[in-house]
Amino acid sequence: MSDQNQPEPGASVIGVIGLGNMGLPMATRLRAAGYDVRGYDRDDSACAAAHAAGIATTESIAALARLASTIVMLLPGSHVVDPVAAEIVRVPRAERACDFVIDMSSSSPGRTRALGASLAESGITLMDAPVSGGVTGARAGTLTIMVGGDDAALERARPLLEHLGARVIHVGATGAGHAAKALNNLLSATHLLATNEALIVGARFGIEPEVLNAAINVSSGRSGSTDNKMPRFVLSGAFDSGFSSALLAKDIGIATNLANEMGMDAPIGRAVEEWWVRLAAQIEPDADHTEIIRPLEADNGVHIRARSSAVAEPTS
Ligand code: NAD
Repeated sequence: MSDQNQPEPGASVIGVIGLGNMGLPMATRLRAAGYDVRGYDRDDSACAAAHAAGIATTESIAALARLASTIVMLLPGSHVVDPVAAEIVRVPRAERACDFVIDMSSSSPGRTRALGASLAESGITLMDAPVSGGVTGARAGTLTIMVGGDDAALERARPLLEHLGARVIHVGATGAGHAAKALNNLLSATHLLATNEALIVGARFGIEPEVLNAAINVSSGRSGSTDNKMPRFVLSGAFDSGFSSALLAKDIGIATNLANEMGMDAPIGRAVEEWWVRLAAQIEPDADHTEIIRPLEADNGVHIRARSSAVAEPTS
């Protein structure tokens, strides 16, 4: 289904490019809040899911740029955001409605700075506003949103962002949101790998993983991994967070590159990157990131599942 219903002349249309795990629930929330939302995704099945959710799509990025004053992007990263932005810019200025792009993807901060400068020459303001909170937070509108950009851009975006997130944090100038997000995800990956390792050591010693995780959760070793990821996605056997191993690998790389660009060695980040790459090569690229525990479990002959887990998996 391509775009059928033209908006009222003068009505403000919000475009959403990237209707995947995050983009579709976020577009759906904006539509439910009363915005005239139009989407675009290069993947037919993502468009079909959007149509099923009542969101019309355009046939091209250019068509969306002619309709929507604000375009929100939920794309894999800068390697996709940059060419998509170039397609927006290619629409002649007189025909273009779009003068504001909010990149909510987890992109690379240096590339975001450069993109902001080049879009400004075409009369388009770029704001980075990556998110934390996963698919659950996207559906519920409880994301944390880390904003990079000037005050005017944030004030323009704020009414829209408040339908998507519970916390909007202005971390700095253009690119700072993407830097904050990458550093957050490096820590998230660090906690996940360290928690996996600790629960496996505990299991080999004879401690029930569920019991050890619960003990850590009321002690000083707790983290987002012990609090949320282990119980919901690993101990349960569900492995359905909706965030792929490949996307987290990209974020780890953005953070370690940023450290290098800042003239730092960042040995802990480098170790996490090396481990993630090594383990990720042993699972499918589009596997859920919480499945990163599987090669460690296989190497150590244990499965870190709750006794009450609905998914029974044999130990090997
Ligand atoms: P996803 O792979 O589910 O969705 C990305 C969408 O972009 C897909 O539908 C894909 O078809 C589309 N796409 C790719 N190239 C395109 C192009 N050239 N033109 C148009 N559409 C294109 O990814 P996701 O999980 O929704 O993540 C989106 C972004 O949000 C990523 O940057 C990710 O790192 C970040 N993020 C994800 C989560 C999560 O839990 N999934 C959490 C926080 C941040």
